[in-house]
Amino acid sequence: MWVKFWGSRGSHPRPLTTDEFRAKISSIIQRARPEDLESPECRERFMAGLPSWLFRPLGGNTTCIEVRLSDGTVVIFDAGTGIIELSNDRKRRGVRDREYHLFLTHFHYDHIQGFPFFAPAYSPEVRLEFYHPKEGLEHIMKEHMQPPYFPITIEEHMAAGMRFNRLGEDPVQLGSAQITWRKMRHPGDSFAYRISEHGRSLVYATDCELSPKDFERERENENFFAGADILILDAQYTLNEAIEKHDWGHSSFSLGVDFALSWNIGTLYLFHHEPQYSDKQLYQNLTAARYYAQTISSAKLAVHLAEEGTEFTL
Ligand SMILES: [Zn+2]
Ligand SMILES: [Zn+2]
Repeated sequence: MWVKFWGSRGSHPRPLTTDEFRAKISSIIQRARPEDLESPECRERFMAGLPSWLFRPLGGNTTCIEVRLSDGTVVIFDAGTGIIELSNDRKRRGVRDREYHLFLTHFHYDHIQGFPFFAPAYSPEVRLEFYHPKEGLEHIMKEHMQPPYFPITIEEHMAAGMRFNRLGEDPVQLGSAQITWRKMRHPGDSFAYRISEHGRSLVYATDCELSPKDFERERENENFFAGADILILDAQYTLNEAIEKHDWGHSSFSLGVDFALSWNIGTLYLFHHEPQYSDKQLYQNLTAARYYAQTISSAKLAVHLAEEGTEFTL
């Protein structure tokens, strides 16, 4: 399967402010020596050597991940503002997918607020399959998109065929992939998804405050978390902030490392970035998370920040 992060910020969109943009430019200029600017190659080398927080901003869109299965089936996890960029990208490249499978973790704004701007939903040639384990999926999606919250409605203006699927106990089979779900601790609940295809698996667990229950060696946890190749995990806070914000429904990056190690995960992507944290702070968190992972275990756990625009094949 092929995976792309279209949005990885949590809580609300987080554009780079004008002051931050100016500060980045100023820092870059101060680092440049005349020889760094001599030729296109020198400039490329100079830019590649800049600190990540200067040259690789994490992006400001809220949660949306695309997974393309081996048969071309498009699965989307969450419809935060990242889904708008997914839609723009399709338009730029002239790509017309006819079917989208949209799995929603829950309905907090940052996970659905891009949907009204998802252009394929306005095309009669497109089919949208929605999935969620709780009752009321169709009602919730239609209710949030109507006046006075939004000028037009799903029923009157979105021409795509839509089906709202309530998930049961059985896994969803899409092509050669299987998708299962698990309830996570979050205000109003959130649902994590595990998608497996050809022996590779990815777990998407956002908006979750990890608890001792998630570490228990019981069958549901074993089946869901154990040995996943990729874990995309809510790691919104530092440990201090997670303690201050107990019960807010999010986890710290250090607990995320403990969790990934305990379930023998291959690669951990820190996700649902705190909007109050700058790029610099988030890269500092990454350094701390990597150091922590190396210090407490000899297991090889790769740790990354979920960067908007990052794609990989699994
Ligand atoms: Zn969220
Ligand atoms: Zn939430």
